[in-house]
Amino acid sequence: MKCKVCRQHAVIDVRRHNAGFCRTHFLDHISNQVVRTIKEFKMFGPDDRLLVAVSGGKDSLALWDVLVDLGYDVTGFYLDLGIGGYSTRSKDACIRYADGKGAKLIVRNLRDEHGYTVPELSKLARRAPCSGCGLNKRYEFNRAALEEGFDILITGHNLDDEVATLFGNVLHWNTDMLGRQAPVLQERILTAGHGAQKVMVKKVKPLVKIAERETAAYALLKGIDYVVEECPMVEGNTQHKYKEALTLLEEASPGTKSQMYFGFLKKAAPRFAAAPEDDVELTACAGCGAVTIEVETGEPMCSFCKMKALAHRRRADSLPAPSIRKPRT
Ligand code: SF4
Ligand SMILES: [Zn+2]
Ligand SMILES: [Zn+2]
Repeated sequence: MKCKVCRQHAVIDVRRHNAGFCRTHFLDHISNQVVRTIKEFKMFGPDDRLLVAVSGGKDSLALWDVLVDLGYDVTGFYLDLGIGGYSTRSKDACIRYADGKGAKLIVRNLRDEHGYTVPELSKLARRAPCSGCGLNKRYEFNRAALEEGFDILITGHNLDDEVATLFGNVLHWNTDMLGRQAPVLQERILTAGHGAQKVMVKKVKPLVKIAERETAAYALLKGIDYVVEECPMVEGNTQHKYKEALTLLEEASPGTKSQMYFGFLKKAAPRFAAAPEDDVELTACAGCGAVTIEVETGEPMCSFCKMKALAHRRRADSLPAPSIRKPRT
């Protein structure tokens, strides 16, 4: 196969575009796709303060690399989840990348911040690891962005991630989630009783036009030393299973994933978006005060604080009762 642009030998074929690319033009293609996505969805401008959540994997490091090469001043944020050697190796990959590129990286540790690791939380809260992990990541990414004064939180969700989430949401007719599934989630301002206060930073996903296989090829061609191993807690993750099923469909009919996702955004997403009058009013969470993410009806407590309180309560209940000495008479 030849490169679509220069007719030299192609190093990769992108079947849904029916095109092959040489190294140079593939890297350009990825960068152009990111630029087009940022513009099309009005994600951010050159003056915005950008924070990219990095996991040490191919997607987030490739995205960070593209943005740095495009000239954006973008800081990385790594959250250590405490998943044994996997977390250590992932953190090291982020540090190596940041050092090599001269980029800024913020590292936080879940145990230092909240007193548990993801495996501990899963046992204490009796939740599947990925569900507790996802909630903690969303909360901590947002908190870090707000505390450190960033305007935009960028994540490395790619086309495969987004279409698998969409597939799961459709399978369960999770209409609330379908209403919120978009490449951009606008910031939220809390006004009631507190003056204007930003509680949720704007979140964007510039890789939605790029497949997982392509971010891996980008990372490989750029010599990015990312963590190849999968998280040891991924087993049982339903999204993972949806990805496998969708990849089979994509192989049989290239372009299926992109058609499903972008077709949804164009034709169906507006039908699920909450009408302004349906929008829930945000209140401050009693647990974390200003940094409220979600408030469920009836209780001024966000789901993160509820889960954290439950984990700490269960841990305290499992500790042996302190022995009480009888006072001497
Ligand atoms: S696989 Fe699950 S537990 Fe592991 S990092 Fe991803 S969401 Fe967290
Ligand atoms: Zn070429
Ligand atoms: Zn809270």
